[in-house]
Amino acid sequence: MSGIVIVGTGQAGFQLGASLRQGGYREPITLIGDETHLPYGRPALSKAYLMGKTNAAALQLRPSAFYADQSLTLRVGERVAEIAPTLQRVILTSGEKLSYDHLVLATGSRNRPLPVPGAALPGVFQLRTLADADALKAALHDVKAVAIVGAGFIGLEFAAVCAGKGIAVTVIEGANRILARSVSPLMATAVEATHRAAGVHFAFGAVVSAILERNGRAVGVAATDGSNYAADLVLVGIGVLPNQELARDAGLPVSNGIEVDETLLTVDPAISAIGDCAHHPSPHSHEGRVRIESVQSAVDGARCVAARINGQPGSHVAVPWFWSDQGAYKLQIAGLAAPHDLAVLRGSPDDGAFSVFCFREGSLVGVESLNKPGDHMIARRLLEDRQANLTPEQAADTTFDLKASVA
Ligand code: FAD
Repeated sequence: MSGIVIVGTGQAGFQLGASLRQGGYREPITLIGDETHLPYGRPALSKAYLMGKTNAAALQLRPSAFYADQSLTLRVGERVAEIAPTLQRVILTSGEKLSYDHLVLATGSRNRPLPVPGAALPGVFQLRTLADADALKAALHDVKAVAIVGAGFIGLEFAAVCAGKGIAVTVIEGANRILARSVSPLMATAVEATHRAAGVHFAFGAVVSAILERNGRAVGVAATDGSNYAADLVLVGIGVLPNQELARDAGLPVSNGIEVDETLLTVDPAISAIGDCAHHPSPHSHEGRVRIESVQSAVDGARCVAARINGQPGSHVAVPWFWSDQGAYKLQIAGLAAPHDLAVLRGSPDDGAFSVFCFREGSLVGVESLNKPGDHMIARRLLEDRQANLTPEQAADTTFDLKASVA
C-alpha cells in the first residue's frame, strides 16, 4: 500500500493526518508542506503573536514528538510540483516521485497581490505565514504611522494591534464600509465605531492606485481620488486566492477553488480537497456551493475525509462558524448570512455586547455576535437544527429564551 499523501501542512492537512490515525488508519501517511515550520495555527498571527502575547512554539498544533508517535511522515520545506493522476503519483520540486492510494490537496490559499506600482517596495507587508508575521513584528518596532489597504478581518485585526501600540492607523478601503463581504451593515457599523474609539481612521471609497516611495522605501499610499496617506509601513490585506493550480494542471475542475462533491472528493476518485482551497456544496450557502476560509471549515472538512477513508462516508455539512478578535472585541459569526433580507438586533451596540440575527425569506441564515459568546453558541445549534423555528420577533426580544427554540 502506498497510503495517503497530503499536500499542505496547514490546519486542514494536519487535522487530516491526526484524524486518520485516530480513526484507525494503519497505512503510511505522508504530509508535504512548503513552509519550514511544524504545522501551526494562523489565527494568533494577526492577534496575540503580533502583540507579543504568545510565541511561535505555542502556535504549533502539536509538538514534534506527535508526528513520530503517530507514524506521520512530515516533510516540511518541500513542495509538490505536479500530480500524475493516472499513475497515482505526485512529483516534488526535487524530482522525487511519491505514489499514493489517495491524495488529499490541503494547499490552502495565498494573499491576493495588490496590482499597483510600488507594491513590492520594502515597507509593504502582507500577513499569511509565520514568516510574514515575524517580518511585520520586527518592522513595527520603530513605526509611527501605518496604512492598511483593505478593511477585511486581517486588516482590522492588524489595525487593533497597531492602535494598541499607540501607532497612528489609517485603513483605506474601496467599499463604503468595513467587512463588506462578511457581515451585515448593522454589525459593520458597530465594529467600525469600536475601532474609531481606539483612534483608527478610515478612508472609504478610496481605491489605492500606488504605493508612495522615497529613497527606495514605501512612505504611504496614493488613492485614485488624489488623496495620499503617509505611513512608515503599509499592510495589504485584500483577501486571498485559493492554491488550485496543482489541481488545475492535473486536469481537475477548478473555479473559485478546487471543485469537490459534498464528501470533498474531486472528480478523480483518488483525490480529495479540503480547507481553504476546496469549493464544495453547502446546504448553508445561498448559491449552493461555497469556499470557506476558516479554522472550523478546515478541521471539519479534514474529519469528514478521514472518516470516509476509514470507511464511514458522510457529507461536509457542518454549520460554518468563524471568529475574529479585534482589540477588546470578539466578533463571532455562525452560518452564512449573505444575502439576507432582514437583520434584527438582539441587545444594543451601545452596551458593547449584542448580536445581529439575519433572516432570508423568514428563515434564520446567520448570526453575528460581538462580545456575546452565549448567543453565538446557541446560534450554532439553532442553525444546525433544521426544525428550529425562531422568528425575528423572538430573536429581538432579549427576554425570550433562545434555547427554547432548539429541539
Ligand atoms: P493553509 O493554512 O493555507 O495551509 C496550506 C499549506 O499548504 C500552506 O502552508 C501552503 O504553503 C502549503 N502548500 C500550498 N501548495 C503547496 C504545494 N504545492 N506543496 C507543498 N505545500 C503547499 N480563521 C478563523 O476561523 N479564525 C481566525 O481568527 C482566523 N484568523 C486568521 C489570521 C490570519 C493571519 C490568517 C492568515 C488566517 C486566519 N484565519 C482564521 C483563517 C484560517 O487560518 C485558515 O482558514 C486556515 O488556516 C486554512 O487552513 P488550510 O490548511 O486550508 O490552509
